[in-house]
Amino acid sequence: MKVRAIGGYNQVGKNMTAVEVEDGIVLIDMGYDMEEVVEEDNEIEELNTKETIELGAIPDDSKIHDKKEKVKAIIIGHGHLDHVGAVPKLAGSYDCPILATPFTMSVLKRMVEQDKKNLNNKMIEMEPGDTYQASDSIEIEFVNITHSIPGAVMPVVHTDEGTLVYGLDNRLDDDPVLGEKPDYERMRELGEEGVKVFIGDSTRVDEPGRVMSESIVETELKHTIDQAYQDNGGVFITTFSSHIERLTSILKANDGRRKVALIGRSLKEYTNSAEELGMIDLSDVEVVSYWNETNELLEEISKERDEWLVVCTGHQGEPGAALTRMAKGEYPMEIQEGDNVIFSSSIIPSPLNRASRYRLDKMIKRAGGRVISEVHVSGHSKREDCRDLLLMLKPEKLIPSHGSTEMAAHHATLAREEGYTLNEDVFIVENGNTVDL
Ligand SMILES: [Zn+2]
Repeated sequence: MKVRAIGGYNQVGKNMTAVEVEDGIVLIDMGYDMEEVVEEDNEIEELNTKETIELGAIPDDSKIHDKKEKVKAIIIGHGHLDHVGAVPKLAGSYDCPILATPFTMSVLKRMVEQDKKNLNNKMIEMEPGDTYQASDSIEIEFVNITHSIPGAVMPVVHTDEGTLVYGLDNRLDDDPVLGEKPDYERMRELGEEGVKVFIGDSTRVDEPGRVMSESIVETELKHTIDQAYQDNGGVFITTFSSHIERLTSILKANDGRRKVALIGRSLKEYTNSAEELGMIDLSDVEVVSYWNETNELLEEISKERDEWLVVCTGHQGEPGAALTRMAKGEYPMEIQEGDNVIFSSSIIPSPLNRASRYRLDKMIKRAGGRVISEVHVSGHSKREDCRDLLLMLKPEKLIPSHGSTEMAAHHATLAREEGYTLNEDVFIVENGNTVDL
């Protein structure tokens, strides 16, 4: 078995891994690097595949190209853009099916439509627990896991050269607000059956302890909203648009006290997918994204600002997002004295995001609004969660991923505490490297 690190091994973004055995190749994830796309100020839809690779925005899969016909399946683990974003650009060159859960597939189909590409790959929807026979000796299995988006799974590739478990991305939530808790029983079983290699999520491995449950954020959100409503002003919340579980927590915390508006394109898109699959009920919620309808709704809300809860895009201070535009006064509703702006998010750690958020916070405060940050828990396993995964799966080898070399080193240090040895059974790799097992 060869594991090829194609993307996501030098950074948080553009994840892609290839698993190669005698009988075929399986590709896991095709994501893009949002920073590269934002910084270049390019619409990724306008660029061709080669240009997008050269930009560094999507994984460079050229090494797989000479053995294209060996590729038996493309697996997408969940619907975040750093896992699914490059599918419209890359998947078309492989004559094989794409496997994903229904929510992930719905996100994927919408992206393909926007990219104005016709993908001929067969799209096969699988639920956690389902398996797919990709070739004589390759079987793919989906194991349920929790993350910060619905439909996340831990893909497992069973081959006659051993089993690979792909752990991007996860956190371990025993009391999720939406969906089922992780399938620990199956993970322990896999550990007993024998796991050859585990690709581990390193994003938050350097942080001590465990990630708290989403149900705790729900309680915290209720408290924060209760306090904000006391001011009788406008209340704004911003969070990750794909975080349907968090949006559910927000609706529960509001509990019908105020009318709810969802504002912004990505919020509309992700909630559409969730609504189609019966994951969220938005029958009493106004959802807008186009300029005109947003203006109209905000004009109405501005006249009765103490009767609305505005959920909007812009948690990273993105220049074109709804919250930034409101703070700048580009919409008929502006932030004013007595308003509360709640960030149910964390700053994705990069200089660009930090600068944008700094500017946004300053604008809100200058207008007289109050900023409440970090009503949030991460979607990525912390140190003890990562240790739990190692203890349950008992992989022979660990390849840290989803992070910089520094993050991977933290993961390797944790593995050493559990008896692993660097370069013998833990491998820190970079994009373009191959681990021959
Ligand atoms: Zn993710």
